[in-house]
Amino acid sequence: MIKVAIIGYGNLGRGVERSLKQHKDMELVGVYTRRAPETVQTEGAQAFTMDQLKDKKGEIDVCILCGGSATDLPTQTPEWAHLFNTIDSFDTHAKIPEHFAKVDQVAKENQTTSIISTGWDPGLFSLNRLYAQSILPVGETNTFWGKGVSQGHSDALRRINGVADAVQYTVPNTDVIEKLKAGEQVNLTTRDKHFRECFVVLDDGANADKIREAIVSMPNYFAEYDTEVHFISQAELDQNHQAMPHGGTVLHTGTTHENTKQVIEYKLQLESNPEFTASVLVAYARACVRLAKEKQFGAYTVLDIAPKYLSDRTDEELRKELL
Ligand code: NDP
Repeated sequence: MIKVAIIGYGNLGRGVERSLKQHKDMELVGVYTRRAPETVQTEGAQAFTMDQLKDKKGEIDVCILCGGSATDLPTQTPEWAHLFNTIDSFDTHAKIPEHFAKVDQVAKENQTTSIISTGWDPGLFSLNRLYAQSILPVGETNTFWGKGVSQGHSDALRRINGVADAVQYTVPNTDVIEKLKAGEQVNLTTRDKHFRECFVVLDDGANADKIREAIVSMPNYFAEYDTEVHFISQAELDQNHQAMPHGGTVLHTGTTHENTKQVIEYKLQLESNPEFTASVLVAYARACVRLAKEKQFGAYTVLDIAPKYLSDRTDEELRKELL
């Protein structure tokens, strides 16, 4: 039985707790939180303080880190990779190389294994981009997200001083998708493909103009997009913006001999983004434990992991059932 701990219990943490119930080879040994454990409402798992985690070396096979990418994971992953094998869903794409280098150093020095930036994007979408571009080098890949709630962007909004609560929707430009599928040549910038819509609840006395400016100019999150900001009440946010659907498409259009057109499309339609992302993290947690058993220490991304390591089936079973 693989012994798993959850570090940080928000949407993703709850999703991991739910997903683990579907995996017979894995067991949740505890939720570790920065808050008072008795205030954290889990769905059955016992909650503990972060201090209690320090004494658990040797009792936990892998920790699934469920903190936010904006400020939690850049410190939490290197911190816990000192002691444990870890999985995270760090999704600030531009900072992944830096995060990887930091975690890799800690993991190698301490003989642990860490898989960073798992989930669906980065994660499964990254894998599909790699497959498409390796198979059809003459072609173009485009990734479209939404319409859906981006947890990473919502998290970044909520961490701005003066913001009480917020939800961010990523909206794809469907006209552009149809043109690409039809084989039209379209020159696209980041701004042409999506726009971002933010619903923000302000703290009492917060300055709306300053907060709007802080949002639309935030590098890596909003500055490169057309962003619309709506200030609404907490009641309206609670009533109309609580579901967390998402999804998206990796679309690769290429040619082989002369103008023979080939289209690869990988699509996700998710009723719950955090529950799906959590399910990806859990499968990679299994891979992480297997790598650690093979003494393959250091940091990895989904691009490094053999697909069979995600499965609880034997190599023989996989060859028989899936090929
Ligand atoms: P949340 O904001 O729900 O949780 C983040 C952290 O905040 C938790 O770990 C928890 O830490 C703390 N927290 C949660 N609820 C509360 C609360 N009520 N009061 C105080 N603190 C709280 O974030 P999500 O779980 O929605 O998302 C986590 C990250 O997942 C995102 O930042 C994003 O980067 C990533 N993600 C990645 C995807 C991918 O495809 N790679 C897809 C989707 C998300 P603690 O328990 O220690 O207090």
